[in-house]
Amino acid sequence: MTRNIQQSININPDAEGFYGNYGGQFIDENLKKELKKITEAFLLLKEDSDFNEELRYLLKHYVGRPSPLYFARNLSAKYGAEIYLKREDLNHTGAHKINHSLGEALLAKRLGKKKIIAETGAGQHGVATATAAALMCLDCDIYMGEVDIQKEKPNVDKMRILGANVISVTKGKKTLKEAVDEAFKAYLDEYESAIYAIGSVVGPHPFPMMVEYFQSVIGKEAREQFLELTGTLPNCIIACVGGGSNSIGLFNGFLEDREVKIFGVEPLGKSEKIGDNAASLTYGKDGIIHGFKCKVLQDNLGNIANAYSIASGLDYPGVGPKHCYLQSIGRADYVTITDEEAIQAFFELSKTEGIIPALESAHAIAYGIKYAKENSTEKILVNLSGRGDKDVDFVLRHIKLNKFSS
Ligand SMILES: *Cc1c(COP(=O)(O)O)cnc(C)c1O
Repeated sequence: MTRNIQQSININPDAEGFYGNYGGQFIDENLKKELKKITEAFLLLKEDSDFNEELRYLLKHYVGRPSPLYFARNLSAKYGAEIYLKREDLNHTGAHKINHSLGEALLAKRLGKKKIIAETGAGQHGVATATAAALMCLDCDIYMGEVDIQKEKPNVDKMRILGANVISVTKGKKTLKEAVDEAFKAYLDEYESAIYAIGSVVGPHPFPMMVEYFQSVIGKEAREQFLELTGTLPNCIIACVGGGSNSIGLFNGFLEDREVKIFGVEPLGKSEKIGDNAASLTYGKDGIIHGFKCKVLQDNLGNIANAYSIASGLDYPGVGPKHCYLQSIGRADYVTITDEEAIQAFFELSKTEGIIPALESAHAIAYGIKYAKENSTEKILVNLSGRGDKDVDFVLRHIKLNKFSS
């Protein structure tokens, strides 16, 4: 493929929140007014040395950053290429989400808000938000589908221990999409005293821009660490894409290094059929979801389709607008990995390196292994977005069920 890349990549969205054709604000006027205030406050705080100093302090002493860059020597020896892992799994609370949850909570505090409102699907974003809210002495309401509450009891327990209110959503399918709808509704009623803390680089402007800013620490660190460890840049970088926050955080560090290939890995779930996967960039069409424009999985009638992946952190029918833009200009390629390939990679990394990855991250590992087999002279950097403790019971049950059914 010949790459036709514009002179300069739009690192930031335009004033309306668009990255190329994607993003923006498709919301009602009251919310627009409030988000304008938040945008202006954020743009000032981003340049504020006290704010950045506090954020840096917390990332170092509370989260444990910088997260290590680890040369996976056993995996590399087995598959040929040099494979390096950015260890976001070692962060406090076990994934990259704490990076933006802390940023959002710090922003809430600076804006004088008393409460954080958030949605959660599997509970990972809920736990990270509840953690940051506890640290910043803020109230915290987490909206979660009734079905998810029953499925994800350990995370619900954690959120409650951390002092959050977990609010059960009983509308529709009672899962993530309805939880986002209800949380936004609550935010509209409470925006004077509360802030919405979104779980990924999605939603109306300025949420994608803010979350991206807080996650960019991943790519900044990784680039420096890679140069220090190897003396060169990686040939390619790989990360899994749900909403797209861990991946954009990594990618941002390398966008201007045109020689570095960039791969985002989407979940192919059970098949290519709409409803069987959550590969929005691969199978989606331009559409609007949760107040912004992106590639959206849709049925024949143009309704938003159900998204599915074995990794609950990846099953969102939309995707961050900057990914849509990077795909449209050819700066990043988006590929897919199935449930079963992710499960295999989950065991492979565990057995060869002694690292149990989150099922989400296992998608990136699986593609890294596939790529390594075909490009044995290259240096590959994979973002290990989270640890797999949360998935252990589920994976074992899944394996057992499959054995009985086959
Ligand atoms: C939530 C989650 C993801 C997916 O979210 P992105 O916004 O796409 O990064 C990936 N990995 C882990 C471990 C997660 O918890």
